[in-house]
Amino acid sequence: MVKINEHYANIGSNYLFSEVARRVREYKAAHPSSNVISLGIGDVTREIAPVVIQAIHAATREMASETTVRGYPPEAGYDFLVDAILERDFRARGVQLSPAEIFVSDGAKSDTGNIGDILGADNLVAITDPAYPVYVDTNRMAGRQVELLPCLPDNDFCPPFPARPADVIYLCYPNNPTGTTLDRSQLKRWVDYAIAHRSLILFDAAYEAFISEPDVPHSIYEIEGARQVAIEFRSFSKTAGFTGLRCAYTVVPEELTATDSSGAAVSLNALWRRRQSTKFNGTAYIIQRAAAAIYTPEGQRQTREIIDYYMQNARLIKEPLERAGLAVRGGVNAPYLWVKTPGGLTSWQFFDRLLGEARVVGTPGSGFGAAGEGFFRFTAFGRRREVEEAVERIIKIL
Ligand code: PLP
Repeated sequence: MVKINEHYANIGSNYLFSEVARRVREYKAAHPSSNVISLGIGDVTREIAPVVIQAIHAATREMASETTVRGYPPEAGYDFLVDAILERDFRARGVQLSPAEIFVSDGAKSDTGNIGDILGADNLVAITDPAYPVYVDTNRMAGRQVELLPCLPDNDFCPPFPARPADVIYLCYPNNPTGTTLDRSQLKRWVDYAIAHRSLILFDAAYEAFISEPDVPHSIYEIEGARQVAIEFRSFSKTAGFTGLRCAYTVVPEELTATDSSGAAVSLNALWRRRQSTKFNGTAYIIQRAAAAIYTPEGQRQTREIIDYYMQNARLIKEPLERAGLAVRGGVNAPYLWVKTPGGLTSWQFFDRLLGEARVVGTPGSGFGAAGEGFFRFTAFGRRREVEEAVERIIKIL
């Protein structure tokens, strides 16, 4: 008789975005001529950069010839992409990594979830609250105990240390959903904590490309000692519009270890390589060529232009809302704005009010964790005209 994984009973239903979609559908059905604008989801709205499209075309042509066709890719990525990553994302920032420490993949969502495959079920896992839901759900699926670290105005959205020493700690900076960052000294305190408690930091840097302030680290490896305690996740999804193309990478330093039941140190790099070579068959050649194209000077220019466009959207949301009296975080080093709901409304009450009165959709903060209650997330991934119109409508109903 087949048995299910009972731990799935400990995760909520996939409620947030499906509930948002349901309420929007119902509203549109009742108001067919209404023009609803969404500042809800973190997905691209601009076309993909020309260098990326050209690289896809060129790589597709290679696939059309017997002499240049490619089959299974190397599981951890082609050298041309790994070398570009090492040079542009790390060496240029003074961080030395080796090719064996980079694992190219099809997404940071799957990597941040799958990393649990190499970690014991008896680890205590600390996760910021609110958070990208994958961290909590995948750990609950595996039956791990989770301690939430509330990030609130009281602590300036900087996570407190766990009450009990945590074995594994998820940090996502710049943060989804709050848009906040940890500066160098704040991140150093977490690296020191992990060294002292022999914990592992899982650092999600999916929004690294949106950093504009100099004191915000782009990589956790800019902090001394981090190589001994941290895995870092990067993604091309938001950096270069790859949400539909799918490419990301994970860094697992060679000196990073965890202990087995006899207390012996085991290389996490070796375990992750073993995991990936068993369960993953590599990222498509065409997509890796597309990703490599963004590291060319023209690719850097084109992707920067797109990021600047989104960050201008962020300013166009943040400044008028602040002038209208709302408390708004984020939007400076991240494409998300985290807004305190006015008048003490719950996140969902504010959602209904915005939809009903302003015909604008955002994401209720409570969907990212209990500490998100009373907050609301707007995304800067929008079209300029719609962003401006949405902000005008929001201000009118405040
Ligand atoms: N990490 C964070 C914090 C995210 O917000 C997202 C997407 O929204 C991801 C990872 C997913 O990245 P990918 O598209 O590479 O799977």
